[in-house]
Amino acid sequence: MIRVLPIQSSATTKESPNPGRLIVLTGPSGVGKGTLMRSLLHRHPQLYYSVSVTTRSPRPGEIDGINYYFINHSQFEQLIAESELLEWAEFTGNYYGTPREAVLKQINSGKLVLLEIELEGARQIRASFPSAFSIFILPPCFEELEKRIRLRGQDSEDAIARRLHRAHEEIKAANEFDLQIVNDDFQTALNDIEAALFK
Ligand code: 5GP
Repeated sequence: MIRVLPIQSSATTKESPNPGRLIVLTGPSGVGKGTLMRSLLHRHPQLYYSVSVTTRSPRPGEIDGINYYFINHSQFEQLIAESELLEWAEFTGNYYGTPREAVLKQINSGKLVLLEIELEGARQIRASFPSAFSIFILPPCFEELEKRIRLRGQDSEDAIARRLHRAHEEIKAANEFDLQIVNDDFQTALNDIEAALFK
């Protein structure tokens, strides 16, 4: 059984000399969260990336256990029923969630744990972990976001429409987060995130 340490402050305790922390990276689909997250992981090996579970089908090139754990609806429902998810949300017709145990284990061992998740999940994490540091990534403009989603070439026209609709809603919530970064120039966005995390 894993004990959840309070991570309100960076103060250390006798039982846990090195409490970790959650970092939430959120923002609309297509904004470049995934690329930013991969660069952060590459440049800062001390970060732990939480691999999510999803009911979405794998895209070409995606690997089970690396990009996501790909599971079916009934498996996902079972994880919810057994309280195995730290947060979860429905996103454009599929379910996505963060496995609880792996994340808490990493936090308790002093790691900085990175979650790359959508708005509803990010809100749940902020409610249960007030000391989580949350970053909202914004596109330079909506047209650019649409262009990026289309360029990815991985979603059907229907899925693109649903993602764009959701993006409109998500962007309105940007100011709920600790830091807002406009992903216009990738390197600048990355530098700004690093400055906030490792200053
Ligand atoms: P995609 O289908 O493009 O991989 O992901 C769709 C959205 O789900 C993205 O905004 C992504 O950040 C989000 N997402 C990925 N994993 C999780 C998760 O574990 N929980 C939540 N709430 N959202 C997630």
